[in-house]
Amino acid sequence: MSKPSTELEPQTPAEGLLKRNNYGDAITYQVTCECHDANHDHNVWVEADDHRVTVTTYTTQKSKWWSLNRWQTIWILLTKGYIEYEANIIMTEQQALNYAETLKKAIKDVKNFKQP
Ligand SMILES: [Zn+2]
Repeated sequence: MSKPSTELEPQTPAEGLLKRNNYGDAITYQVTCECHDANHDHNVWVEADDHRVTVTTYTTQKSKWWSLNRWQTIWILLTKGYIEYEANIIMTEQQALNYAETLKKAIKDVKNFKQP
C-alpha cells in the first residue's frame, strides 16, 4: 500500500490539463480523465467581463470542441441539455493540484487582460 504523497508541486506544463485557446479575456482548457476516455473530459472556460470573472465547466461528447467558437459552444450547451447528462472525471492528486494552480493563474490572466 502506498502512502499518499504530500510533497507534490504544481507542474508546468500541467499534466492532465491542456490549454486549448486564449482569447485574452477568455482562456479555455481541456481537463482529461485519468482513464483516457475523451468522453469524460471536462472543458473549462475562464472568462472575464467588465464586472467579474467566471469559470464554467462542462462536458461534451463532441470531440474537438475547442475548434468551435464560443457561441457554437454555448448553443450546444443550451440545446444538448447538460442537466440530463452526467459525467465523472477522475483526477490524480497531481492533476487536481495542477487544475487548482491553473485556475488561479487563468483567473489572474483574464482579469489583468480586462484591467491592465
Ligand atoms: Zn474516465
